[in-house]
Amino acid sequence: MNPLVMALLLVAALGVFGVSIRGRWKLLHLSGERPHIDRIGERFRLTLKYALGQKRLTRYKFAGLAHKAIFFGFLMLLLRTLILFARGFTDDPKFGYWIFDSGDLLGNFYGLIKDIYIVLVITGVVVFLHYRLVIKPKRMTLSGEGVLILAIILVMLLADVLYEGAGLVLASRDAAGLHFSIWEPLGSLLIPFLESAPDGTLVFLYHLGFWTHVTLVLIFLNLLPHTKHFHIITAIPNIFMQELEPAGKLKPIEDIEGRIEREETLGIRRIDQFSFNAILDFYSCTECGRCTDQCPAARTGKLLSPKKLTIDLRDHLYANQSGLIKANGDKSAAIDDLVPAVIDTEALWACTTCGACEQECPLHISFVDKIVDLRRYLVQEKGECSSTLQETFSSMEATGSPYGVGSDERMNWAAGLDVPLRSETEDVDILFWVGCAPATDERAKSIAQAMARLLNLAGVKWAVLGPEESCTGDVARRAGNEYLFQAMAGANIETLNGYHTKKILTVCPHCFNTLQHEYPDFGGKYEVIHHTEYLAKLMSEGKLTPTHEVNTTIVYHDSCYLGRLNGIYDSPRKILASIPGVTLVEATASRDRGMCCGAGGGQMFKEDEPGDERINFARADQLLETGADTISSACPFCMRMLTDALNTRQHIDIAQLDIAEVLLKSVTGA
Ligand code: SF4
Ligand code: SF4
Repeated sequence: MNPLVMALLLVAALGVFGVSIRGRWKLLHLSGERPHIDRIGERFRLTLKYALGQKRLTRYKFAGLAHKAIFFGFLMLLLRTLILFARGFTDDPKFGYWIFDSGDLLGNFYGLIKDIYIVLVITGVVVFLHYRLVIKPKRMTLSGEGVLILAIILVMLLADVLYEGAGLVLASRDAAGLHFSIWEPLGSLLIPFLESAPDGTLVFLYHLGFWTHVTLVLIFLNLLPHTKHFHIITAIPNIFMQELEPAGKLKPIEDIEGRIEREETLGIRRIDQFSFNAILDFYSCTECGRCTDQCPAARTGKLLSPKKLTIDLRDHLYANQSGLIKANGDKSAAIDDLVPAVIDTEALWACTTCGACEQECPLHISFVDKIVDLRRYLVQEKGECSSTLQETFSSMEATGSPYGVGSDERMNWAAGLDVPLRSETEDVDILFWVGCAPATDERAKSIAQAMARLLNLAGVKWAVLGPEESCTGDVARRAGNEYLFQAMAGANIETLNGYHTKKILTVCPHCFNTLQHEYPDFGGKYEVIHHTEYLAKLMSEGKLTPTHEVNTTIVYHDSCYLGRLNGIYDSPRKILASIPGVTLVEATASRDRGMCCGAGGGQMFKEDEPGDERINFARADQLLETGADTISSACPFCMRMLTDALNTRQHIDIAQLDIAEVLLKSVTGA
């Protein structure tokens, strides 16, 4: 075509792109933390499933298909772009790196595939333009940037078709009569419109198509690092380097005592403290809003929006890019504290750590770790949190329970029941970790009582720690008080290890998650079983048989810490379905899309952040819509939140029962 112009274009465009990428690359390394690249095989498998397979987009039918068309189209058309760049340096209009030359077998085949993908990508672009300009979903950022990028893609592809069509007609004049090519169907479609054009016009259109295409590709490339379309480059690495630890697990602050001595910041205060992976998350957000769409805080009108949180952090990072790079890790450089300058305090404290956002994000962007890290700084360095949370921390320190109930009262729930203490029992198969709510909260006590009776009926060798048990520290940890959490975890692990504990049974998904996933970081490694799984197992072994009818229609509410964060959906449903007389119905929002009750992340022990509605009320309404007369759950926190909602709304006709309570009714008839 024109080697000089092509070379100038490439040098200018790639030079500018290189400068942009260099800046973004440096930002990734500000914290000095290394990216996740362990467990390579598992990472490849997940990348295949979620990046190439686009698994998380299958729920969004048309948008998902349109995205797939564009994604795979881009992969397929990359070769075409490289071929056109090369043709800029040669006069051979058929050049295709000697393998994909037009007219050769592979070149012809690729020409056909390319045209099919051009059609698919154009269809995808039209669908997205329809979404942006006509449907306008609330969740999406409907900026002009999105439309501009789609328009560039559209014109870029049409320009290629024009180049191909004009080329075919020019070639046919040379070869006297050769017209349509089944290997270049899109270009062939233009032949009837172009064949009567004079040679000069054809040559002009041929060059116009070519140069428009290559120039737009280079403009597009340079827009990427400055727009949300940066995900075109970062999505696959972000999915590949995602966190592989269990969904409900938080990372510890390592060597917390040493850090305090060295006066190092606990938690995250400034943008440059975020890790390589966190910053790659910021680059990767497409602003699709799927996270916020599922967030219970956002859905009930709170200030929190996980999408906005990510975008605000990203924009703050970009706005300070040159200062951050110059400072190169110098923490005395003038960079704002993130809260409240960038992230609103109210938004930060509205998160229930339910994980709905993380499960939804097609780019596997994480939020809870960032939110907790920001809370850690506020709580531990500035002593800033609500007075009720402060009181909760004090209660945990003084009594070992967020409810402020001392160890001497921790066995009150067991009065009149045959409950063996671990300190007095040698032959124990499983330790029942009762948890603070079932041990001390008036409503939740009956869950522990039902469980104790079921264990005795099944003939299990079990015991409890009784006064030696204290809170796992989950509430403190998720509310940002890592220091208190680590102190409580250390004490509990000492007790558990002192009894050579192997198996632990819990009725609380929060205890389950903390004991199972977080205690191993501090030397507490146990097999932890949630009571829904354990009861299902006892039933399958014939040790518990539901025989008496419990005539009721039940809707089961999925606890976030049991379902979404630990994948336990089936056992509770299996138990309920096997009870005679029970009709099981599902809420519209259930299983992995089940809505949080509003208790997690320390919310249970603080006042709600301002919003349109309380989360537990919204969730109770969803469950009531099913027409069920009983709401069943498998988490004492969920039970408390839903009971409060039902009582406030005066739904005294609706029963609220834990799975263990329903099963006990059927096993004993009482
Ligand atoms: S974890 Fe739950 S509450 Fe927190 S931002 Fe995500 S969806 Fe919202
Ligand atoms: S964080 Fe993920 S789900 Fe949320 S807007 Fe960005 S890409 Fe979409």
